[in-house]
Amino acid sequence: MILLLGTRNKGKQRELKELLTGLDGVELLTFSECPFTEVEETGATCEENALLKARTIGEEIGRAVLADDTGLEVAALGGEPGVYSARYAGIPPDHTRNNALLLSKLHGIDDRQARFVMVAALHLPDGREFICKGALCGRITHRPIGEGGFGYDPLFIPNGSSRTLAEMTLAEKNAISHRYRAIAEIKQILRMLAA
Ligand code: IMP
Repeated sequence: MILLLGTRNKGKQRELKELLTGLDGVELLTFSECPFTEVEETGATCEENALLKARTIGEEIGRAVLADDTGLEVAALGGEPGVYSARYAGIPPDHTRNNALLLSKLHGIDDRQARFVMVAALHLPDGREFICKGALCGRITHRPIGEGGFGYDPLFIPNGSSRTLAEMTLAEKNAISHRYRAIAEIKQILRMLAA
């Protein structure tokens, strides 16, 4: 099976490639090898957006596509930014501005509980679709810490850790992340399909 990763985000591509290694009979393609049109995230939920991306790219390219949509849900902000995580501080999406806005909204707030939720959607050329979900609970820092990862990683300390995701190696983040949890289930489906 040839599987296209339906994301232009280099950070996601790096993590997904690593998470999907060792799958016999599955060859991965990324955006640079198989370009596709950007899909506008018009869904009301991460599930809708993940499926929209996988389906739209799959129908354009005619291959199996794995797409994801991730939301950071902050308890004290009623679940914000959630489905708006990418464009929290406006369009075009900008990590630095998103992180600055999140920190300013949490200024003076002690409750820093948050979670990443990732929905992975697999669309196959014959129209079959699969959805898997993974979450990672933690808390938001008071300032960005660490140079690794991407997006909100410098602001997020997973429960049970004293470091942000941006201070971890790719292997450390991939051992616990929301992406790891959702992709573990997708891998089982891919193994079944490739058998
Ligand atoms: P989307 O899934 O590409 O819409 O991502 C939503 C937002 O969350 C974007 O700003 C991403 O950069 C950010 N994001 C997605 N996954 C992660 C992650 O694993 N860590 C930190 N930020 C992430």
